[in-house]
Amino acid sequence: MSKAAPLGPVPFGPVSYDATGALCLSSTPLAPLAAQFGSPLYVYSGAHISAQIERLQSAFAALNPLICYAVKANMNTHVIRHVASHGVGADVVSVGELRRALAAGVSPEKIVFAGVAKQPAELEAGLETGILQFNVESWSELEALNAAAARMGTIAPVALRVNPDVDAQTLAKITTGSRGNKFGLPFDDIPSLVQQMQTLPHVRLEALAMHIGSQLFKMQPFSDAYKRLADLTRHLSSVGTTLQRLDIGGGLGIPYAPEDGDGPDPVDLAAAATEHLAPLGLPTIVEPGRFIVGNAGVMIADVVYTKESYDHHFLLLNAGMNDLMRPALYEAYHHILPLQHSSAAPIPQELAGPICESTDVFAKQRPLPPLEEGAQVAFLTAGAYCAVLANHYNGRALPAEVLLSATGEAKLIRPAVSDADMIALEQAQA
Ligand SMILES: *Cc1c(COP(=O)(O)O)cnc(C)c1O
Repeated sequence: MSKAAPLGPVPFGPVSYDATGALCLSSTPLAPLAAQFGSPLYVYSGAHISAQIERLQSAFAALNPLICYAVKANMNTHVIRHVASHGVGADVVSVGELRRALAAGVSPEKIVFAGVAKQPAELEAGLETGILQFNVESWSELEALNAAAARMGTIAPVALRVNPDVDAQTLAKITTGSRGNKFGLPFDDIPSLVQQMQTLPHVRLEALAMHIGSQLFKMQPFSDAYKRLADLTRHLSSVGTTLQRLDIGGGLGIPYAPEDGDGPDPVDLAAAATEHLAPLGLPTIVEPGRFIVGNAGVMIADVVYTKESYDHHFLLLNAGMNDLMRPALYEAYHHILPLQHSSAAPIPQELAGPICESTDVFAKQRPLPPLEEGAQVAFLTAGAYCAVLANHYNGRALPAEVLLSATGEAKLIRPAVSDADMIALEQAQA
């Protein structure tokens, strides 16, 4: 029989129960925030974001890379601004994310533009901004970038994104660097592409880039990919192509469950990168997203109803897959804890949302203490790939977001985007 969660820190991330049994994020009790700002609610810890960036900076000190935060993990401009205050740049995948990075004060020379299907207007926006590099993923995109740069009378800085064909050993749905994924250019095609590129006068090869997947726990796939990248860089150099830098992508995993412990240590990732890449003497870019913001965030939800059905005990919440989609999208696990500690023996429960879809289930047979209607829970590790995936399905609002400063001050960084806002947009179309 499993036991109730103990008071004190949760085994991972910045969440803990204080002596009164109140669940806290970086020592700030969560229930009063839900009372003030409503529920469902995303809350992010600025202190945890800072600590994660400092862990990366110290782990990678030997390589001294430019860290470009992968904005897609959490695109709130206040979050980006907080990240950027540590000297960190941005990895963007759309003109929308580019605008967000600029609005948050990221300087253009620290922005890399990734994404497999950038449209001409997006390429032009990047050129106009004067970003550091475009991570290009196909010959067609190179031609489009060349044309855009020609129209604008400029030369586009290019990193070719290599698909190194390694097994990232993570969830199949978030693997990006294997044969058969839509991402990157085949490893063996790069030398001939580099030759062919010389027929395009408005693009300039500056770097190679790779990103093999997300939520990686094992270092071997990174190590294999870095070795391939180093080999390719040496080969290009031997045939007269000198690169300015290497972009090694993101993907470092984080704990989502107590059994994940502390998760992988960035020191081990940095050691693999240093082993293979430091001898090349090139500046390096890393693009972490999840590692920086994932465990900084929680989502609070209320139990609206409980019900018994065919031997199952359901907790029906006021948050659904539209608010937090990762369980429905990837069958991802989120640890869930009551906002008020209970020492009652846990029983298996089904936590589900209000959406009219059978996939709108957050957890099955999850051991939790019995919770009454009106009780509140927190979904942990909700800082990355959660609020960004929220949508209006079933006429629902996008949840509000709050950022806690280092001193625990709560700031509303986006109010809920309500159904009324959406109706007004539609009704404005006469
Ligand atoms: C998503 C993405 C990242 C960030 O991945 P994480 O797993 O969040 O670190 C970095 N680079 C590229 C190109 C990406 O698409």
